[in-house]
Amino acid sequence: MPELVEHPCSFTGCTSTVLGWEAKCQFCNVVLCDVHDNENNHECCRLARLEHDERNEAMYKVKQATREKNLNHILEQIKTHQAALEKEISTIRPGHTCSLIIPQLEDLIKSKWYAGFNVHFLITFEDDVDWLLRVRQPYGPSPPQEISDIVMTIEVTTLNFLKANGVSVPGAWLPKHLEDVNCNTSARLPFDYFIYEFVEGKPLKINKNLYKPIELPPNELRKFVEEYAKIQIQLFPTYLLNTPKLDLYPRLPVTPKTFESVQ
Ligand SMILES: [Zn+2]
Ligand SMILES: [Zn+2]
Repeated sequence: MPELVEHPCSFTGCTSTVLGWEAKCQFCNVVLCDVHDNENNHECCRLARLEHDERNEAMYKVKQATREKNLNHILEQIKTHQAALEKEISTIRPGHTCSLIIPQLEDLIKSKWYAGFNVHFLITFEDDVDWLLRVRQPYGPSPPQEISDIVMTIEVTTLNFLKANGVSVPGAWLPKHLEDVNCNTSARLPFDYFIYEFVEGKPLKINKNLYKPIELPPNELRKFVEEYAKIQIQLFPTYLLNTPKLDLYPRLPVTPKTFESVQ
């Protein structure tokens, strides 16, 4: 619920907060209140006044630089805590040892193993089993830890519920400090993450615009809708309505009827 999170203005000495999705600049992730969000404090305000093409190019560069800075920050954190992560992950598969593969920044960018929120790192076990470490990107000021913890718990619980009910998603494991209530929380690592199985697949190239139709060949569209419907049928309403921990989800009116209507 990022729309309910108040982010502090980053101007030194300012005690104002900014509420909601729009709090962070979408290009450089800085948070500034109405008083301080101006050309003197925020380069993007100046760039926004450039002519169309020049502005797009300048903003794109700011976005790229922010992305690289975030990815680099994560890479440094993972390197610093590599041994602790490998030890923790190996305890999930007793008797096996794992290696966490940390790429160079250029290779990570090429790999596209990241999107707007998360970055993935390959975990390999000595018996050729592969898992993934999923790390949340530090895109500007983060929500309070309590919210991040709930989000991680919901994500892992949902994946495991879906997998147990026949949907093709990876099994997942929470980090120890969220799994074990008696765990010493001072030992937690300074980033949010969880672990899940590596499931290979072929990405579908679909239009992500919510207001435009999904254009796929009929057999692929049918498969897409079937898989989507399987997930929705599992999640609503029996699971969410009976799982108090997960009642932050929106209640969408999706039922088996939705599935039947596309047959
Ligand atoms: Zn900006
Ligand atoms: Zn301010």
